[in-house]
Amino acid sequence: SLEEDNDGNDLVSRLDTNSFSPRYQKLIAKSRDERRQRHADEKALRDQLLHLEQNNPYWEFAQMICEFRGGLEFRPLRESDSVIENQITVCVRKRPLNDKEIKRREVDVISVPAKNQLVVHEPKQKVDLTKYLENQHFRFDYVFDESCNNDLIYKFTARPLVKTIFEGGMATCFAYGQTGSGKTHTMGGEFKELIQKGSVERTSGQTSANSNSSRSHAVFQIILRKNGSKTIDGKFSLIDLAGNERGADNSKSNRQTRIEGADINKSLLALKECIRALGRKGAHLPFRGSKLTQVLRDSFIGEKSRTCMIALISPGNFSVDHSLNTLRYADRVKELIANDNLDN
Ligand code: ADP
Ligand code: MG
Repeated sequence: SLEEDNDGNDLVSRLDTNSFSPRYQKLIAKSRDERRQRHADEKALRDQLLHLEQNNPYWEFAQMICEFRGGLEFRPLRESDSVIENQITVCVRKRPLNDKEIKRREVDVISVPAKNQLVVHEPKQKVDLTKYLENQHFRFDYVFDESCNNDLIYKFTARPLVKTIFEGGMATCFAYGQTGSGKTHTMGGEFKELIQKGSVERTSGQTSANSNSSRSHAVFQIILRKNGSKTIDGKFSLIDLAGNERGADNSKSNRQTRIEGADINKSLLALKECIRALGRKGAHLPFRGSKLTQVLRDSFIGEKSRTCMIALISPGNFSVDHSLNTLRYADRVKELIANDNLDN
């Protein structure tokens, strides 16, 4: 293949190609034409975008983000990439901008340069009103960009856990994020498919699901038992968590809503601590901290427990604060595990 140097001049063009065989000369010329065409296409697209952006209230930010992306080398996750076998997996999924966000001319402030990296471009303004971006980098086990579909997410998140329950273990998969970020779409939307894949002859299924609204956690459990036996052989829990913005909402809401918000906050904090404790052998499990963690108690104990947290984020600039909160939460779930590994 042809390498290009930083000036965009390909190395081959500086060689004396006349000494090459006609077949190679033809190949080189073809490749050069293709590259020129590609550059022309890219420029046309950029010009078109710029024209659009100039009618956009956030166009300066959009342009800064565009420039930042121009300097990135994108190596997204591919179907063929290998699946990591972690006890605790923490990943992020970014959904595409939706119609409402596009209508509001929101800017996509999330870049996913690699299969485990993400950059949040936080729009900021100095006191003299100069606009600038604060680019915050995060690293997770996987980062799924807006082009990833549920099949791909399943392959890297839930599928590795299905094995665990047939080996007598407890598997838990959480969807965490702001309302509208794609939790239900990722966990339940299509996903029946997962239940079909997971249930075989010797299973007896049990479900307990409450409302899937943003104000409550939805817990769906598949329990494996041998024929006629009372003991549980394996358990798969899928948890569609309440919108995490509810936990922070203590402003203009009424008393009932505030109490709910405080409960949601408590359970999300307890959950984080329980997952962190799972990553440290022999650590105290603070599952009594909330109803949610009490319900999931047996999923946090035992050698064979495995967990996957999928943090969902909306890409638009209106959601940037919520997205950062979600990412910091997910980061702390994993942070301790990474440090532990270093200590060992
Ligand atoms: P949440 O459960 O976090 O409140 P939803 O899963 O209900 O959010 O998603 C909100 C809307 O966005 C739904 O209409 C859903 O179909 C859509 N959506 C979410 N994630 C994606 C995605 N990755 N691709 C396309 N549409 C999505
Ligand atoms: Mg939902």
